Amino acid sequence: MFSQKPIEVPIEGCEGSKPTEKSIMHNFHPRYIKKVVVSQEIEHLHTYSLSFFRIPFLKGIVPHSILTRMERIFQALFGWTKLTPSIIISGTKKFDANISKESASTIDALLVCPSCKGSLILKGTTYRCEKCNLSFEKSEGIYDLRFPVISE
Ligand SMILES: [Zn+2]
Repeated sequence: MFSQKPIEVPIEGCEGSKPTEKSIMHNFHPRYIKKVVVSQEIEHLHTYSLSFFRIPFLKGIVPHSILTRMERIFQALFGWTKLTPSIIISGTKKFDANISKESASTIDALLVCPSCKGSLILKGTTYRCEKCNLSFEKSEGIYDLRFPVISE
């Protein structure tokens, strides 16, 4: 019924964007993300729906503490619905016998290139693939392996 491919949405004027900001936000269908995650040998997937009350009008009239409590209740009761603007998919990476216990103790050692599964080497805030040379960013503690960055 709906396309599962990522769609680009201009964020100009969207909630959370600066008035002068002109950029593109990529929206991903949860099934598309699930396919990508499964292709990376991540298992025991759990899907959670978040942001039941991401409505600017409500945020303006209902105190934050009440919205937070309502959000927790709705997540527990309706987290399975996947009808919210935010969906989180968590899982566990399959054990790789080629990774030693010492090096596997950091998440960086477990990350692989989404394109070729080569090892990612950290330089500053950029992860570069040893095999295919694609680079990915880690910004404010969040890994973004969705799209390679253009290196200068
Ligand atoms: Zn690669």
